[in-house]
Amino acid sequence: MRLVLLGPPGAGKGTQAARLVEKLGLLHLSTGDMLRAAAAAGTQTGLAAKEIMARGELVPDSVVVRIIEDRISEPDARKGFVLDGFPRTVAQAESLDAMLAAKGRKLDAVIELEVDAARLSDRIVKRAEQARRAGLPVRKDDDPTVFGTRLAAYRAQTAPVSAYYRRTGSLKAVDGMQSIDIVTGAIEAALRGCVHA
Ligand code: AMP
Repeated sequence: MRLVLLGPPGAGKGTQAARLVEKLGLLHLSTGDMLRAAAAAGTQTGLAAKEIMARGELVPDSVVVRIIEDRISEPDARKGFVLDGFPRTVAQAESLDAMLAAKGRKLDAVIELEVDAARLSDRIVKRAEQARRAGLPVRKDDDPTVFGTRLAAYRAQTAPVSAYYRRTGSLKAVDGMQSIDIVTGAIEAALRGCVHA
């Protein structure tokens, strides 16, 4: 199964993707995690991305498209994957369709987690507090000002991706304001009967 999890920062994409990985045996592909790993490894791409990410802006389409194209061409991606944080622009969504079509494949479903904007900031403040209390590093881009830029990027560049998938008929909206378990159940219900070859 090939899935995309859409939704604003703080909507719970990472949490739900981890559950889908566990239940359905899919590969979890988070472009944010991949970019942070590249930054930590000090690669040229990673270091350039690090500065952009620290400002809460989007990394260029060409960079993330290449990362995803390489990753989904690896043998372990054949078992299926859940994309978390990609695509974030309509151009990325078009590139994804094209790279899958070149392999004779397509997406099975796109799940959009819908969450109120006010709730998002609360969740991010909590995520930062929990990390601090646990002695873990706090993501720089969870700082309230940077988070504001991330939300603005979401509204301007990523929200149109929902309309793109609505047009192609693959979008399924799930209320992301409920408990983690209920959201997981709603995603599973939305996925029933969505598998392509
Ligand atoms: P995330 O972990 O998904 O919240 O992503 C953290 C940051 O990584 C974003 O704010 C962007 O700067 C960058 N990023 C992750 N995925 C993408 C993408 N698909 N397109 C552009 N930038 C991305």
